[in-house]
Amino acid sequence: MSTPSRIPLLVAQLPDTDALIPYLRQIDANRWYTNFGPLAMQLEQRFAASFAPTLTAPTAITAASGTAGLELVLGALELPPGSSVLLPALTFVATATAVIRAGYQPLIGDVDASTWLLTPETAREYAANHRVAAVMPVATFGNPQDVEAWDAFVVDTGIPVVIDAAGAYGNQRIGRYCHVVFSLHATKALAAGEGGLVVSYDTELAARVRRLSNFGIDLERGSQVFVAGENGKLSEYHAAVAHAALDQWPVMVERRRAVQARYHYVLQRHCPDLGMQRRPEHGIYPILVGLLPPGLRAGDLQPHLLSRGIETRQWYCPTLDRHPAFAAYAAGPLPVAHDLAERLLGLPFFIDIDETQMQRVGAAMAELVPAESTACDSIRAEFKHEVHA
Ligand SMILES: *Cc1c(COP(=O)(O)O)cnc(C)c1O
Repeated sequence: MSTPSRIPLLVAQLPDTDALIPYLRQIDANRWYTNFGPLAMQLEQRFAASFAPTLTAPTAITAASGTAGLELVLGALELPPGSSVLLPALTFVATATAVIRAGYQPLIGDVDASTWLLTPETAREYAANHRVAAVMPVATFGNPQDVEAWDAFVVDTGIPVVIDAAGAYGNQRIGRYCHVVFSLHATKALAAGEGGLVVSYDTELAARVRRLSNFGIDLERGSQVFVAGENGKLSEYHAAVAHAALDQWPVMVERRRAVQARYHYVLQRHCPDLGMQRRPEHGIYPILVGLLPPGLRAGDLQPHLLSRGIETRQWYCPTLDRHPAFAAYAAGPLPVAHDLAERLLGLPFFIDIDETQMQRVGAAMAELVPAESTACDSIRAEFKHEVHA
């Protein structure tokens, strides 16, 4: 028997050369390659308008990466050194590294069992029992945070909120009071290779973010540095890719929605016991993560899937508190995040995934996840029928 062809976990899709050429020609003509060049400044305007097509637009500041954006906005909050920033245990490590590199301490909290998010309600509980100087909730796997609820949190508690919406461009709205950071990394839905974006209605904070992204140089006060920053600027070349990606965005959104809807249907039919994140149905999600039924562990299934040519990943496993660098920072027990981390399984998902590949993933999951109901068996029989038909 021949080995089945590999189904990759993800295949990044960035604008091709032809789509870049008009922007690269602009760079040639401008001879301006970084340091707040015209393409980066136009990109900020385009992004800002995309968040509020009719109302007053927020300020958008480009950054070298999503992580740089997080560090810059945390720095711009100007909290006392060593302040605690509440964040979820179930997230990418950059959420925590940004807090430490900004001079603060992470305070690692638990997440909601159905949305997999750190919610304003749990943040209020942590804030009642810990000194919380800021909160950094995450739009986990692209699932948007409720900005009205976070705005209310800021107003009630006076605690600033920075949403790490790295992978949630297209889903995450901007609050009046909470600041939002997006990533333009190659693996996100809107990709420029590397890049980031800080979005806020606070124009003074935005000015501090801009300054910190340029070493802290204060151009209005004799180009002196009052607060040390970093080099966190987006180059004109990355801005060019982001412009081309924005041009293609409406088409990509439709394609992603179509493939997502079909894939969910296929998985649901083959393996109804595979859980999914509670999230807006028409969102744009760069990755697909299933939740195995209790008792099954993603790590145990991975080799079996790989032997069928199916690449998978345990996203965000281990949880932050189980990385040596962050082990000291758990706010308390983290039962939900620990349970989810064992059972979440990232399945192959990319914009060109075809019907045969989706069916192969579905069939393998049906085989490996024993069905509680007989529904799964009948679907399997039906699938065998389809392939032999
Ligand atoms: C991707 C990601 C980041 C890091 O973004 P970069 O642009 O790669 O620096 C941070 N947080 C979360 C939740 C992410 O998914």
